[in-house]
Amino acid sequence: MDAKTLILGNSRDAREIAEELLEKDGDVIVAMPVGIQHAGLFDDLHAEGKTGKLEIFPVAGSFSCSGSVGRFSLTFNGNDKPVTRTVSSIVIADEVERKPNFSLYGVGASSGVASLSQVYEWIESGSGPEKKILSGKRIAFLAGLVEESNPVITEEIMRCALNLQQEFNCQTYIFTGNLKVAGNGLEALYRKTKKAGTVYMKFTETIPDIQVEKGGNVTITYIDEIIRETFKLNPDVTVVDETLHVSALSQDLSNKLEIDTGPDGFIQSDNVHRATVFTNRKGIFVSGFSRGVQTKGDRQADVGSTALAVLNLYQQPPEKQAGKAEINFTGHCVGCLTCFRVCPYGAISLDPKVVVDPQACEGCGICAAECPRFAIKINAPVGMAISERIPEGEKTTDPGDFKPSITAFCCSRSAKGAGDLATCMGYDLPSGLKIVEVPCAGSISREHLFSAFNKGADGVLVLTCHKGNCHSEYGNIYVHQRVDQITGALSQLGFEPERLTYKTIASNMGTEFAETVSAFEKDLFKLGPSRLKPQG
Ligand code: SF4
Ligand code: SF4
Repeated sequence: MDAKTLILGNSRDAREIAEELLEKDGDVIVAMPVGIQHAGLFDDLHAEGKTGKLEIFPVAGSFSCSGSVGRFSLTFNGNDKPVTRTVSSIVIADEVERKPNFSLYGVGASSGVASLSQVYEWIESGSGPEKKILSGKRIAFLAGLVEESNPVITEEIMRCALNLQQEFNCQTYIFTGNLKVAGNGLEALYRKTKKAGTVYMKFTETIPDIQVEKGGNVTITYIDEIIRETFKLNPDVTVVDETLHVSALSQDLSNKLEIDTGPDGFIQSDNVHRATVFTNRKGIFVSGFSRGVQTKGDRQADVGSTALAVLNLYQQPPEKQAGKAEINFTGHCVGCLTCFRVCPYGAISLDPKVVVDPQACEGCGICAAECPRFAIKINAPVGMAISERIPEGEKTTDPGDFKPSITAFCCSRSAKGAGDLATCMGYDLPSGLKIVEVPCAGSISREHLFSAFNKGADGVLVLTCHKGNCHSEYGNIYVHQRVDQITGALSQLGFEPERLTYKTIASNMGTEFAETVSAFEKDLFKLGPSRLKPQG
């Protein structure tokens, strides 16, 4: 695979990832929006010592992308002619969008009131008029007084206060609500700031009164909740905390590149099967603030993981680059595009008919199960196709000799593990239980479910990952819908809907697996043999 990566974003994390790849012979294209706050961030990456080639396009929001892992084709639409490049992987690592909470405290930016980002800029410039604004001054931070602060902001405020105490000879005050300092070294930082002289004023019952004076400075009137006395403070600079949101660029890229997002819009959902910097698209990685509000330490870890993931991809031997399934379209395709829409990995494209990129296919089987024309064939090795593995049920229908046959379709990432665990734990599982392991529950089609009954199952269980934890994002939801449709149709025909049951289970839930299958067997004993059973 070509050692070429596109890095989208305008953060220090993006720069560090670019640096690591360039040092390891990788070529890097950086694309970022025009007029951004870290202009020049990548300039010195051209310096000596880097073996890879670097190109910078100030047009991150304005490019088109097709293809998939190994050969993403990009067209940048700048002011001049469109420029086309091909890369094997893409990294998204943008900044977070910060909104100062001025309105929460009833203040506005003035000579005596600044946002946290503004103060960091003054500190970083470190000389001239900015230094004068801060040196030797009384600085008050408003941190989570009205709404709880994110730990990332809490950390930034404490670091800022420490810096001002130690480097600018300031006296700092942190006015805070329910300050949480557990985890990620915050407790140590808290103690360090206190030792350096920062005064913490905590308010759990009252909120300080904040008044803006004529000159733009602020008077903070507050009740000390320990000694119950009222005090006033007139800081030279009052610093307002901020709330953090996903950047517009990250949002735009998640749409453009078809990447799953969480409820807060950050790229990457809380899917337990998705390891850190990986996304639902093979070859597209997400790092730092583009995937969530993360502390400096966590973002640093992301930089290393992203560079490693990209380098591993470059070095992948050809046999590992092949997709996980061979997909063929038959002549029955009517071009409804259902498969194109449901593929969670962006492996199906239009050219002009639907085609699968074998390298991007994860073999989840959702496309085949959803195709209304049965036009998709997944070529699994002999004995591995789901339909071939649906077992024959017990044929005896003598009610006195009834032993329920149960076919349990188990997702390989959850229920199969739970079943194995139940066996290891020594549970006595129903003797008529037969497990059919599937790559993703989304691959279980209506035909598979009917086939299980036609082959003699008295009951069929569909056991999947919990909601929000499907590796294919919606596989468990698709199969749940199919189960609901079939049970609805069967009950109208007078067939007991309880014979087809959907449940979610995690791989570490051996006891729950045993309880589920045993309870299901009990229900089937009550119902008796299925009427769809072939006669013995
Ligand atoms: S879902 Fe089936 S019929 Fe529709 S486009 Fe895909 S292959 Fe063709
Ligand atoms: S099997 Fe899954 S990953 Fe492969 S093309 Fe079908 S839906 Fe996409």
